[in-house]
Amino acid sequence: MPGTNLTREEARTRAALLAVDAYEIELDLSSARAGGTFRSTTVVRFTAAEPGASTFIDLVAPAVTEIVLNGRALPLENFADSRIALPDLAAENELRVVADCAYTNTGEGLHRFVDPADGETYLYTQFEVPDARRVFANFEQPDLKAAFAFTVTAPAGWVVVSNSPTPEPVGDGDTRVWTFEPTPRMSTYVTALIAGPYVGVFDSYDNGAQHVPFGVYCRPSLREHLDADAIFAVTRQGFDYFQEKFDFPYPFAKYDQLFVPEFNAGAMENAGAVTFRDQYVFRSKVTDASYEARAATILHELAHMWFGDLVTMEWWNDLWLNESFATFAEVVCQAEAPGSKWPHSWTTFANQMKTWAYRQDQLPSTHPIMAEINDLEDVQVNFDGITYAKGASVLKQLVAYVGQDAFFQGVRAYFKRHAWGNTRLADLLGALEEASGRDLRTWSKAWLETAGINVLRPELSVAADGTIESFAVLQEAPALPAGARGEAVLRPHRIAVGLYELVDGKLVRTDRIELDVDGERTDVPQLAGRKRPAVLLLNDDDLSYAKVRLDADSLAVVTAHLGDFADSLPRALCWASAWDMTRDGELATRDYLALALSGLQRESDIGVVQSVQRQVKLALELYADPAWRESGLQRWAAAAESALRAAPAGSDHQLAWARTLAGAARTDEQLALLAGLLDGTAEIDGLAVDTELRWSLLGRLVATGRADEAAIDAELARDNTSSGQEHAATCRAARPTAEAKAAAWASVVDSDTLTNYVQDAVIAGFQQPDQRELLAAYTEKYFASVKQVWETRSHEISQQIIGGLYPAYAVSQATLDATDAWLATADPAPALRRQVVEARAGVERALKAQAADR
Ligand SMILES: [Zn+2]
Repeated sequence: MPGTNLTREEARTRAALLAVDAYEIELDLSSARAGGTFRSTTVVRFTAAEPGASTFIDLVAPAVTEIVLNGRALPLENFADSRIALPDLAAENELRVVADCAYTNTGEGLHRFVDPADGETYLYTQFEVPDARRVFANFEQPDLKAAFAFTVTAPAGWVVVSNSPTPEPVGDGDTRVWTFEPTPRMSTYVTALIAGPYVGVFDSYDNGAQHVPFGVYCRPSLREHLDADAIFAVTRQGFDYFQEKFDFPYPFAKYDQLFVPEFNAGAMENAGAVTFRDQYVFRSKVTDASYEARAATILHELAHMWFGDLVTMEWWNDLWLNESFATFAEVVCQAEAPGSKWPHSWTTFANQMKTWAYRQDQLPSTHPIMAEINDLEDVQVNFDGITYAKGASVLKQLVAYVGQDAFFQGVRAYFKRHAWGNTRLADLLGALEEASGRDLRTWSKAWLETAGINVLRPELSVAADGTIESFAVLQEAPALPAGARGEAVLRPHRIAVGLYELVDGKLVRTDRIELDVDGERTDVPQLAGRKRPAVLLLNDDDLSYAKVRLDADSLAVVTAHLGDFADSLPRALCWASAWDMTRDGELATRDYLALALSGLQRESDIGVVQSVQRQVKLALELYADPAWRESGLQRWAAAAESALRAAPAGSDHQLAWARTLAGAARTDEQLALLAGLLDGTAEIDGLAVDTELRWSLLGRLVATGRADEAAIDAELARDNTSSGQEHAATCRAARPTAEAKAAAWASVVDSDTLTNYVQDAVIAGFQQPDQRELLAAYTEKYFASVKQVWETRSHEISQQIIGGLYPAYAVSQATLDATDAWLATADPAPALRRQVVEARAGVERALKAQAADR
């Protein structure tokens, strides 16, 4: 029973048999306001290499009403298990399928959303990985590219956007018909349709004879917050940079960017019709880190227009290359594009992407970057920190290894050679080898085919007068968790060692040595005979991918002076190293807190500040010795309050500390301050208590029992939007009563009616570290229901529940035992097992870190 799965082997067989020419797809969305189902008619023309052979086409639909292959009606029973069997193919085939497809509320397929602000219905598609088949019958695999011609019937007055430019609609009465031109050849997963009374802002990219129309869209209720000019400016920078570096004009007819509701990911690279989560339209004040993140996402999706859409991976095992390339491209563009507002993007990369990669790479589920992807279930759990962040780190290193000029030269040849086609990793590596003259097989083997992170440690001896006698870099093989795939190997690393001295209160780099580290021990004779600097920093400039340790003297200086590094990148590397050591139980949580309290006072990079704030909170909740935890939390809350009061009025730092205090407040005085800010009786000079901040303040008051249901209702009345409803759902689930917990649990686990966003909001409110006792009963309930959840819910919905409701705050041997008992008896499918094993690893790590903090 394939269910909704598809194996790589099946895809290979089908690709060998078929060549797909074109689809004509008619969608009747006149039912959109009512919901339920919509009529989907697909005509697909394709050839078969072996006449008489049989194959199948994919479709997920409540009902099929017509299947006609080459003029012959096939029995409707041919539709089973999300496939339609197609026997006895001719050389040239025409297939017509008419189906009733379903609108969804899970963010997969054709998502339907009703905006409480205006009562209007908004639709958009999300197809990656295999969900185009929820909207029309198709051969759902990336290497069966075709031209797609969409014809859409929708309510009059709506805006309808797809991959091809939007035509003038025709017709009269309540509906209109939009007939789109066929697309260039593309994969099913990057086709798209967005429909509803969205509003658009228009501009264009003009460069010599080139004219590309731009559109930016959102719901009318967000229009007042849409800063389209800022979005166009970043987009234009990306067009300039990528067209020059790739030496290939933007491949599609127009470029629309649509901010859509309840979107599961950050964004999706539909060809010429990119969708974004509409939290990127900022309703309230956010810090510059949010603008930077949005710009990065805009550039990431734009890079995919070439790498992903124009040239596409043959199968999902090269998903990592697709995502790593787009991630690398987004960062290098921000670092280098003329006029970029975020030239420090490699600091952000070190601070966020690498932290994500290091965390993921230490889970039992870790895997080589080149993962074995045998079927769709494998790939759906593989949108992870290895695929995006480790891949991009290793790609950064590859660029350093072959040189950036040769890298882009290879990329240019690759686009020209494979435009509109499909490729494998070897095609890119081949182009890079030609451009650089280097053999990349050894590199590929060491970095792409093995798992885990090497640890680099300094080993030095210093004479009594402070002269370095010897210095070496020691490399450790990755400590791969039991059961992890791949070999634990030492790797070649190109790294820099930075030498820093305290000069006028600043830690300034006085020298830098670049070297190749290989094997267990690499001596660095260049340092012998020199005076020991205040700080010796391994992997300075973040060239390689490794966990880095500081020697004891450097660590002492960094602990006292982390905020005093003159440059942001070494600060970010030291922050990352300290966080790593805390997670690994090599630095006690209380010492990490002390370091954060001193370093954050002088940290100017707001993105780093916000990351460290999140990490401190996590460390206190999970890694602190429970006997000391409360005093650590109190110290943190007190520090947040004084930092809030000390921050410059109206600054990003002020906002970041206000949010931190809203999550951390514990004492009566602190909670009274939150209440005062909310009701206007207290004020912090320059702090705007706007919509989002109000919900944060209320959330803490509710979770601590200081605000009730009536307060939640009153806030929702002030902000009766979809975001307001989500915040209200979080607040209700956060109330510190057994009844509230039971209601939240039942709404997620026992019922399946919540939308993806509301469910996520309920889960966020349910899990409160301060409510461990109330949550204790749910460990058993979790294991009693998780398998059924996985079997009966969609991929996105079950993933939220499995990861989100795991008893992560119940850090105890009992939780590990309960998990192990379930793993031993429940016989979970591999993708479900992976998610539970990953969650278990968090508890195991926390137990070790707590012991280290004791
Ligand atoms: Zn991407």
